[in-house]
Amino acid sequence: MAKEDYYDILGVSKGASDSEIKKAYRKMALKYHPDKNPDDKSAEEKFKKAAQAYEVLSNPEKKQRYDQFGHAAFEGGGGFGGGGMNMDDIFSQFGDIFGGAFSGGFSGFGGGFGGQRRVKGSNLRIRVKLTLEEIANGVEKKIKVKRKIQAPGTTYNTCSTCNGSGQVTKIQNTILGRMQTAAPCSTCGGAGQSIDKKPAEADAQGLKVSEETVSIKIPAGVVDGMQLKVTGKGNDAPGNGIAGDLLVAIEEKDHDKLQREGDNLHYDLYVSISDAVLGTSKEIDTVTGKVRIKIEPGVQSGKILRLRGKGIPSINGYGKGDLLVHVNVWTPKTLNKTQKEFFESMREDENFVPSPESSDKSFFEKVKDMFS
Ligand SMILES: [Zn+2]
Repeated sequence: MAKEDYYDILGVSKGASDSEIKKAYRKMALKYHPDKNPDDKSAEEKFKKAAQAYEVLSNPEKKQRYDQFGHAAFEGGGGFGGGGMNMDDIFSQFGDIFGGAFSGGFSGFGGGFGGQRRVKGSNLRIRVKLTLEEIANGVEKKIKVKRKIQAPGTTYNTCSTCNGSGQVTKIQNTILGRMQTAAPCSTCGGAGQSIDKKPAEADAQGLKVSEETVSIKIPAGVVDGMQLKVTGKGNDAPGNGIAGDLLVAIEEKDHDKLQREGDNLHYDLYVSISDAVLGTSKEIDTVTGKVRIKIEPGVQSGKILRLRGKGIPSINGYGKGDLLVHVNVWTPKTLNKTQKEFFESMREDENFVPSPESSDKSFFEKVKDMFS
């Protein structure tokens, strides 16, 4: 099923300002808030969708990626969790939207929403450098990551202040009227439990550093600066918390011969004046190996040969870019006596005098064609 556009969900235009986006979300969050719509699944769904849309559109980096790549920016090949937000995530946004009254989180409210608040471990960030070939074909990378894991032998006691829920509730007057709000338990810091016993190598939270090899499937078509998420491969949280995520930033290595421009690739081919006059075939690099291309006799310098589908696959899955081969005719800089005499004698020859035909497009027409 196609995902709804985030701008449509919030009912704002693509050019909406930050404050318009915030205002639109605030309105929807109030309208579909679970406490105003008890046991209404469709309201809950709308509430979650709006939160998801706001989560992306309120973050400049995510917004830019969404504007460029659509939903695909947060998906990709196997293993990258998309935007599933739980109620805890949603309520943790509210501090930003409504001010302090809501920042404590609401889970457990009215029953059935998200259940017990669970502490999440911190995220880890790594960079992965990829060659153009790896980007073009997709690649699975095995990366060593130092992450904190729960040290074996650590045991926990349930916090007696909050009975393990990690939060204490209080009644507050808010813009929605009198409401019960929840704040993290100060005794256990929101974890719902405290350490009973832990082995010597564990830190104060019962965690220890472990080096693990994480396998990361990188889909074809990723772009420098893009961030992928491997759910649950960040640091563990203590006790019954959930692990953080591993955030993978993509870095593209420069290629010797190929330059990338979106999904298209460019290759500069130099041919001798003799090859240009007589025609030849040349081997060129592509992201899937070398290919031999034919150069017709009489080729003009500046000609662009388009190899369809030899570019980078679109990250959205809409086909592939092309490889554009730019022909440059190499003019000799020095000549011996015989050569010099030959070219002298050809100066006024009708075959050597330029006479561009309509098929010999100007540079500007060629550029126009490339983008059409
Ligand atoms: Zn507690």
